[in-house]
Amino acid sequence: MAFNDLDLTQRLDLAREGTAYFAQRLAALSDRELDAPCLLEGWTRRHLVAHVGYNAAALCRILDWAATGIETPMYASMEQRGREIDEGATLSAGTLRNLFTHTAARLDEKWRHLPDTAWSAEVRTAQGRLVPAAETAWMRSREVWIHAVDLGGGGGFEDFPDVVLDSLLDDIVGMWRRKGEGAGLALEVGGQRLVVVQDDAPPTAVVAGPLASVVRWASGRGAVGLTAGADRLPPRWL
Ligand code: ZN
Repeated sequence: MAFNDLDLTQRLDLAREGTAYFAQRLAALSDRELDAPCLLEGWTRRHLVAHVGYNAAALCRILDWAATGIETPMYASMEQRGREIDEGATLSAGTLRNLFTHTAARLDEKWRHLPDTAWSAEVRTAQGRLVPAAETAWMRSREVWIHAVDLGGGGGFEDFPDVVLDSLLDDIVGMWRRKGEGAGLALEVGGQRLVVVQDDAPPTAVVAGPLASVVRWASGRGAVGLTAGADRLPPRWL
């Protein structure tokens, strides 16, 4: 089952569930713990919380675009996006927590009030892809679920719903295929499904394990619980 095969209501619920999961992991960290590095290289937890907050604000902008037809990009530029995160990371812990809560609530509000016809209106992602506004449910889900783990406060891929894991794997392998990465690599998921990354190259290496472990490894978040291939590094995804 893929995320985008679900009803819109179910997709939005999975994004909300991910937001609640991120909120829980964040609430478990003390203000001082926010100063420590997160699992993303070069970022503290403060940077990550600021990024997740500004991501919701950016998604609000493209939902406004879908609703009004007036083009408003997620970010003015990648430099502006980076600057905003760096500045956000200097906010007080309380302000950062509010930033996360308020932007998530605003995004939810936009989803609740988006006119029916606007869900199929095309908007542009930060990577420049044109997608229907409904794709924001998946874009946000990816962010909140994965970044909850990146907070480094005890979150884990095994907590994710299977449909989120399946769709993450599709996204990652799809990206590798487009970039011509991962030739010779096969993923064995849950002891049954075999995913050969590049069809035209026979597999010479297998990474195997439960779905959550394979997705964690493939997303570049380390080898935990794999039954084979734990010493390999995954191709770059993003
Ligand atoms: Zn992100």
